[in-house]
Amino acid sequence: MAKNIQAIRGMNDYLPEETAFWQRVEGTLKDVLASYGYSEIRLPIVEQTPLFQRAIGEVTDVVEKEMYSFADRNGDSLTLRPEGTAGCVRAGIEHGLLYNQEQRLWYVGPMFRYERPQKGRYRQFHQMGAEVFGQQGPDVDAELILLTARWWRALGIQEHVALELNSIGSLEARARYREALVAFLRQHEDRLDEDCRRRMHTNPMRVLDTKNPDIQALLNDAPVLTDYLDEDSQAHFSGLCELLDLAGIPYTVNPRLVRGLDYYNRTVFEWVTTRLGSQGTVCGGGRYDGLVEQLGGRATPAVGFAMGLERLVLLLVQAVNPDFAAAARVDAYLVAAGDGVQREALRLAEQLRDALPSLRLMTNYGGGSFKKQFGRADKHGARVALVLGESEAAAGQVVVKDLATGNQETLAQSDVAARLASILG
Ligand code: ATP
Ligand code: MG
Repeated sequence: MAKNIQAIRGMNDYLPEETAFWQRVEGTLKDVLASYGYSEIRLPIVEQTPLFQRAIGEVTDVVEKEMYSFADRNGDSLTLRPEGTAGCVRAGIEHGLLYNQEQRLWYVGPMFRYERPQKGRYRQFHQMGAEVFGQQGPDVDAELILLTARWWRALGIQEHVALELNSIGSLEARARYREALVAFLRQHEDRLDEDCRRRMHTNPMRVLDTKNPDIQALLNDAPVLTDYLDEDSQAHFSGLCELLDLAGIPYTVNPRLVRGLDYYNRTVFEWVTTRLGSQGTVCGGGRYDGLVEQLGGRATPAVGFAMGLERLVLLLVQAVNPDFAAAARVDAYLVAAGDGVQREALRLAEQLRDALPSLRLMTNYGGGSFKKQFGRADKHGARVALVLGESEAAAGQVVVKDLATGNQETLAQSDVAARLASILG
């Protein structure tokens, strides 16, 4: 027999029990986005490779070793998107959404990175993110953070995430800082690994982003970017902190927070949890005022974030232990047995869906004894069983059985919708 073909390592299937839960979570997240007036943008999963090289930066983990790039049949280099911001900016420029306008956008969808698969780290994963264009004040940075804080409250995980915040200043401030950092790194070159030694020359700030714990320890003595900030960035940052204080959002200023992508300036932030091991960053973002111009548009201030849905779901499972099955349950199960009854069942089910659009009603197919069919109703978690046998069908009636109380009554089919509505609340 031929060997079964399996899914690609690090690319997950999401089975029905999970998708029902995911839909509920995504529904909550989307409701919050709508409550701030943000609109959805849907973008292609594949873009031209140079878009990501230019936006994310050549000397970053993502571009150096994580992109899924391939030549299409024309020989053009294409890449499965590793993140959403680059495509969003590309589309904004292409459709004239940015210059002299204001946009508050969100997206959700799969992202692809060639990483070592482990808990909370996959090769295909999903992000939900938001991007705001055309606003330069710290108030919009604060709004994005308040929005994410509202997400955590809506999901009941506010106790399990903490906000880290930093400002990485202007391009000029970072250039001054880079000199100081490189001087420090040179002194300790023997303690750097190969990656960091190379980055010391190509993009020294990337060294701060290393996951090597020995080098992280060394970096405790390195100069900090905060001491090199320009005045405007300082004012922006203290403005943001003030707004967060006013809103009662606790945060820690982490001077080592730089984030893994090159396009950020000024505000950077992460929501972290201690409950997912080294995959502890659930959500990260910041300002990227230079990116639109860098990708060929007119200079437009911008700020955004991306949240990893797999890590969020893992955290939800650990922290609030949600009832996965509940999301997948049906309200009612239509038991049908007897000659010519299946046809009647189909008609009745459609009639009930017309009357109660939010009713989750499953119809039995393929016959089976009443006992078997009740077993199926149970398996799907139905609260109510509707029973249609030959005599009920002939009389235009149906038996309504409340499976929680055991109460059972025979009703005219025209009265069933009202009865269901009252049992199900
Ligand atoms: P990490 O430091 O964990 O590699 P990152 O800085 O590369 O994260 P971002 O590019 O900021 O991550 O992406 C935003 C969010 O997307 C992360 O905080 C995380 O929740 C999620 N994410 C990133 N990479 C992965 C992945 N390979 N698998 C699952 N989720 C991911
Ligand atoms: Mg990463």
